[in-house]
Amino acid sequence: SIPLGFFAGIGTASKNGILVKGSNYLEALNDVRTVVFDKTGTLTQGSFTVTAIHAVDHQPEHLLALAALAEQHSTHPIAQSIIAANQAPLNQTLSAVTEVAGHGVSATLDGQSLKVGKASWLKEQGLTPLTPTEVGTAVHIAYGTDYLGYLVISDQLKKDAATAIAQLKKVGIRQTMMLTGDNDAIAKQVSQSLGIDHYQSELLPQDKVATLASLTDNRAQNGKVAFVGDGINDTPVLARADVGVAMGGLGSDAAIEAADIVLMSDEPTKLATAIDIARFTRKIVW
Ligand code: ADP
Ligand code: MG
Repeated sequence: SIPLGFFAGIGTASKNGILVKGSNYLEALNDVRTVVFDKTGTLTQGSFTVTAIHAVDHQPEHLLALAALAEQHSTHPIAQSIIAANQAPLNQTLSAVTEVAGHGVSATLDGQSLKVGKASWLKEQGLTPLTPTEVGTAVHIAYGTDYLGYLVISDQLKKDAATAIAQLKKVGIRQTMMLTGDNDAIAKQVSQSLGIDHYQSELLPQDKVATLASLTDNRAQNGKVAFVGDGINDTPVLARADVGVAMGGLGSDAAIEAADIVLMSDEPTKLATAIDIARFTRKIVW
């Protein structure tokens, strides 16, 4: 049977906008010593703006329109920012559209391949993307064998992200880590400015799962491991953690489904609140 105190704990959590899917997760939260965060949409707002356009041969407006055409088929926050920035939607139809998780969108336009995504992905197809000088996440565009240029998009840290990391230290979390598919320069900048202990960049969704697996394999060192994410591209990572925590507002339905705990307000500081509630609940239960 479930001790009565757990219901009180789940109720207190719920009043704080923290949805706990079972008393066992509140209990597990007590033993978490390592907290791993996704970056985009979790520590950052996940609402990007297009801050630069570098077109090789075309008008910048046309490059943006072409990128938006492909990104209509993606739910990624990057895609939304490109669609929002585009003033002149193209009246063309794509076929064979596929979103390649952690890479970008690929489609066929007038019999040629249109690719919109990260530099390393285009390099794999034999293209030679430019190296942007602007700070931000670059989205490169290629059509057929031609490299057309890139867009730079920028995100912002959530207001409470640094506080969230500091509070975790106070409630006894031994180490924090950030995992991201984004480039190393951004990952370094974000994790340093937030005071995160470790980071890994340029990861694919399956790489994030592998990192989680190696962390949970070493309990003696890491304790139980929580993963906090918005779930876009990383539902399998949520499922692999001892405690999977999803952002409730930004998160996809699949993420909310896969998570053990949902932070309804999307504020990372709510994790320390949840740990506090878990500690208090354990005290009154035992
Ligand atoms: P994070 O790990 O920070 O949450 P993701 O794994 O969602 O980031 O994406 C990693 C990278 O893959 C992005 O920074 C971007 O370069 C690229 N990418 C993913 N989806 C798209 C898309 N729809 N359009 C363009 N680029 C994309
Ligand atoms: Mg993400």
